[in-house]
Amino acid sequence: MINAHTHLYARLAPPYTPGAFLDNLRKHWWVFDRQIDEQTLRESARLYVQEAKALGTTMLVDHHESPNFIEGSLDVLADACEEFGMRALLCYGATERNGGAEEARRGLAECRRFIESNTRPCVRGAVGLHAAFTVSDATIAAAGALARELGVPIHVHVAEDVCDRDGFRRLRNALVPGSILAHGVHLTWDEVRAADELRCWIVQNPRSNRANGVGEPQNLAASPRVALGTDGFPSDMTAEGASAEIVRRRIAGEQLGREIFGTSGPSPREAGRGWPEGPGEGRTSGSSRPSSAASRHLLPASGEKEGEL
Ligand SMILES: [Zn+2]
Repeated sequence: MINAHTHLYARLAPPYTPGAFLDNLRKHWWVFDRQIDEQTLRESARLYVQEAKALGTTMLVDHHESPNFIEGSLDVLADACEEFGMRALLCYGATERNGGAEEARRGLAECRRFIESNTRPCVRGAVGLHAAFTVSDATIAAAGALARELGVPIHVHVAEDVCDRDGFRRLRNALVPGSILAHGVHLTWDEVRAADELRCWIVQNPRSNRANGVGEPQNLAASPRVALGTDGFPSDMTAEGASAEIVRRRIAGEQLGREIFGTSGPSPREAGRGWPEGPGEGRTSGSSRPSSAASRHLLPASGEKEGEL
């Protein structure tokens, strides 16, 4: 089972009683994440991944933020995933909410550093943004340019609460095929259709949405590319619901996993990029031979089975 949006750092967060969405962020999550250091993150990630594996999760899509431990944080998460044999897509969610543009620059630089240096076969990297409402248009543009340059998707919270209602509009030009839009509670029908046309994924997180009181998404039926996540809750995918719609989301997540890792080794074209081609993607390779940089992202061609997703 694929958990298509979560936060490994949340495992050691203290308990709290949720209130209004922005209060939850300002009074709890943004206080907690500033306290995360390397050791805390390592312990949290090891615990989360170990439990996720026991709960039947075979791949995690993580979205990470630790403003006082940015550089190297993705390696800590990747080590935990590798230790327990968990496939994962990792990113640092760049934001400007603590240190302005310089903080965002460091967040994106951590994504680049990890994507270009990671050699773990079970882990891949994405470009992360926290959410449109905590970054400037310049940071959004920089994230889009980086994703295109490196041939990886963007992972970002979108329209989780009404405060981010214009998130998709602001992000739209930066998104590349395969990008992962967490929540989408307040996306319009037309925006969900547009996300599908861009070959983006939306990830519904029912438990989190209820806990934060942000409402229920009304328009996600406009796209088949909607997967399921737990948004920091333990990776018990069955606890997100058992309705036919939620089961469809869970199954759709397996397609997301295949797009990230492939099923039987990459084709020559995929080998240079690993991501589906589509509108807005500007990076092309003139050769079927993967570059040494691109080949760092590849799984060995020893055969991945669909059933392992
Ligand atoms: Zn989240």
